[in-house]
Amino acid sequence: MDGASQPIFTQAIDPAESQTETTRSPVAAPVVTVAAPAAAPPPVPFVPETTPGLANATSQLAAAHIQADGAAPASSEPPIASSSAPLEPGQAVFHPFPEQDPAGLPLTGFASIPSRAAVLPNAQPYTRPGRYSPPQVQLGKGLSRDPPQRRFVNDHELKASLTNGNSELARLPGVVHEDEVKTLSVDDLKKMGLGRLPSGFCYSARMTLHAPLPRTVDSNDPHPEQPARITGIFNKLLNGGLTSRMVRVQVREALREEVMLVHSEGHWDRVRATGFQTIEYLETCKEFFERLSLYVNPDSAFCARLSCGGVIEMARAVAEGQIRNGFAIVRPPGHHAEPEEAMGFCFFNNAAVVAKWLRTVYGARPGQPLQRDVNGKEIKMERILILDWDVHHGNGTQRAFEDDKDILYISLHRHGNGFYPGGDYGALESAGSGPGRGFSVNIPFMNEGMGDADYLYAFQQIVMPIAYEFAPDLVIVSAGYDAAKGDELGKMLVSPDGYAHMTHMLSALAGGKLLLALEGGYNVNSIAESAYACVKVIVGDELPAMPSLGSASLAATNTVADVKRFQAQHWKSMGCAVESDAELTKAGKIESLSDILKAHRVYHLFHEYGLFNVELSSPGLEEAFHDQLLVSEDVYDAEVLLVFMHDLGSMKAAYTAATLDTDLERTQLLDTSCEVLDWAMEDHAFGVIDVNFLSHLATVKGQGVDPSRDRAKEKELALHVWDNIVGMSAAQHVILFGSGAGCHALMDIIRNRPAVTDRVRACISILGLEPPPELDAASGVRPWYKQQSLVLLPSTHPLHEDARRAGKHQKKFGNIYRATAEDESRPTHLLHASMPKVKEFVATKIPQDALDRRPAASSTSAGSEGDAGSAGEGAKPAPVGVEANGTAAEAAAAGDGVAPAVTALSTSDNGGDVVMNGAGNA
Ligand SMILES: [Zn+2]
Repeated sequence: MDGASQPIFTQAIDPAESQTETTRSPVAAPVVTVAAPAAAPPPVPFVPETTPGLANATSQLAAAHIQADGAAPASSEPPIASSSAPLEPGQAVFHPFPEQDPAGLPLTGFASIPSRAAVLPNAQPYTRPGRYSPPQVQLGKGLSRDPPQRRFVNDHELKASLTNGNSELARLPGVVHEDEVKTLSVDDLKKMGLGRLPSGFCYSARMTLHAPLPRTVDSNDPHPEQPARITGIFNKLLNGGLTSRMVRVQVREALREEVMLVHSEGHWDRVRATGFQTIEYLETCKEFFERLSLYVNPDSAFCARLSCGGVIEMARAVAEGQIRNGFAIVRPPGHHAEPEEAMGFCFFNNAAVVAKWLRTVYGARPGQPLQRDVNGKEIKMERILILDWDVHHGNGTQRAFEDDKDILYISLHRHGNGFYPGGDYGALESAGSGPGRGFSVNIPFMNEGMGDADYLYAFQQIVMPIAYEFAPDLVIVSAGYDAAKGDELGKMLVSPDGYAHMTHMLSALAGGKLLLALEGGYNVNSIAESAYACVKVIVGDELPAMPSLGSASLAATNTVADVKRFQAQHWKSMGCAVESDAELTKAGKIESLSDILKAHRVYHLFHEYGLFNVELSSPGLEEAFHDQLLVSEDVYDAEVLLVFMHDLGSMKAAYTAATLDTDLERTQLLDTSCEVLDWAMEDHAFGVIDVNFLSHLATVKGQGVDPSRDRAKEKELALHVWDNIVGMSAAQHVILFGSGAGCHALMDIIRNRPAVTDRVRACISILGLEPPPELDAASGVRPWYKQQSLVLLPSTHPLHEDARRAGKHQKKFGNIYRATAEDESRPTHLLHASMPKVKEFVATKIPQDALDRRPAASSTSAGSEGDAGSAGEGAKPAPVGVEANGTAAEAAAAGDGVAPAVTALSTSDNGGDVVMNGAGNA
């Protein structure tokens, strides 16, 4: 049958047609097959409230399905016989989803939502269900390219149903019945000379029938998923003049076979069965449903079918070339609905069912040509993109396509701290499995307050590049508006203009085949404004001009960077994945950048400051930190000794566009440690111990650098330095100076070496936005530390705010100072900006005569001639007590001059002479 010959659009409900059907049947519509359209069976009478027990009902349903499977394709579900006695209130001995034990439900409620209806006392954390295989639904068996025969509900029926326990609905402000609306047909629009396919929308006031049960309604705290959500959007489009420029696609109920493309038969039966329960019975099940974050009334199942069927009809109209794109104003939403589970206000997963439906109905079949649309164009529906910008992760959608490589699921959502649905399924590492690995892309924002700049940044950096690489044939947007400004649940700040721009970007894909389907969004005004902005874009109105957005927040850019790094394994557009060791070895020699930087530092600090590289006596430490401990020649003699422990500045990397390899020519090292050394060694005559905590854990496996530092090893190094160098020195005044990772090492010394209080005069810590290390009360040195410390935190550090609220700084953090810098997130920037404060602080702690001592002219010119070997050899006295180690001396004797100016101190073989293992010496 030609799709064009079946009128799917109406200007208004045909009164004659409406009259023909006078009952609202909750069961499936008649099914039409491709091969032989069957005549519609007689309407099924609505089952009265005197509903049978469910056990009876489900067994009959099951029997009916067995029968239907073997019967003619034009089967439909039989009515449920009303044989049992009506259920008495309080009599319930079974619950509506009979396969489940309500006490053992592994699901949670909207625990983070500040609403009565959503805060569920019995909520349990979301756990990811096991593997699921959907039933094998085939085209022709209850599933057809052609729409099922339409059935309409007239005003009288709607009102009759409204009185079925929901009489308030009839008086709801803003309820507009569909037959009051004048919309255009395709032909009308063609006459207007639109020049392109029109846009469509679908809406039915019947979907407002799904509402909380009357006795559970609290007018002071309405349930967030309220009927006014869709009436509000519809009225906004209507009053804004958009509906009159669009084609209205008729909503109809989804069929069992359609829903079963994603959901199990049991799930279909369970949801359907709720439509045969009395209000009194469903009230007794209220708590059960709240554990699933659901409410159910006798019309919920009907509305869930309408919601899903509406989106299917929109998809059909787009695929058939009747409309170019569309917006489905539907509820209940769908993206939380798992294949076997209704949850999170969702019953059937509209987006998932539609994606699967498109592939099943229009996908290529072996040996057959592609089907053609009403314009004669081939219909290609091989790959579908589902973009989910609802503020919640669409767990149900991702799970439906967990191992499907033809349906790409991209979700931007709030994640962490138990935000619904909780668990780790929406984490960035959750990326699908099997052949579908990489075809789930999660962009989990860890904070509230993300706005247009953050969302558009994620779109530009991740969504659009991956979408272009995937090249979908149609894009479905799970268009929840709970990330909109004003939504109490999402607490995000996306504006209507922001949604418009995201819609605009997506409409560039798939030749413009774009379908937005409403999901969440609980501020009735925000969702209406946001949906209106999106619809204006799809009908082709001009985009709103955005004000300058500034830059995305640090939190968002971090998330985006993490997602890109992770997804680079799967998507070329995310940059080349870090290659494996084996691949790198094929290409040449592997040398880690950290080794190169360490060698550079050793060379540079020797030439500039005369610092010597010290080998560590412990083999474990030497392996971990070789070339990372340097000392000045007067380390044992200086009156003032600076122990400077830091990480190695920051790298300003530039990337080559094509491969995302680091562009070495434009990459710079920002190393602020020299500023500290200038002060210590040129302004004063401090002895210096320089410990560089450049992480030695760099790995080239898959996900880049291992973020976990070996803190135990760093502590061992710090104590080693204290015991073996500071402990042996004659210094009367010691300054501990930590930057970045070095701050923790500094605290390790204070915690474990009580003698610090004798000689340490100043403890300086410079941190970024991470929490400073704490000193517990048991150490007994808190008062001393408070006196002698200067903890420089960026002015934006949360601790300042906490302290203001608490009225004081906590003792465990020491003497906290609010520092400001241009880029406060980086300790290097802060260090540069804070040096005047550091100098001022030290001047109050170290006696003036010790400060006034100036370095001898010769002491800092050790390597200034640039020839490390000849300048250094024999010219310096060896610091006494530095670890004996023959290797360097032996290497020098053997003339091994690979690393220029890498210096080793040895006291064993050379009577205290410094042995230079340098190039000039070879
Ligand atoms: Zn949501």
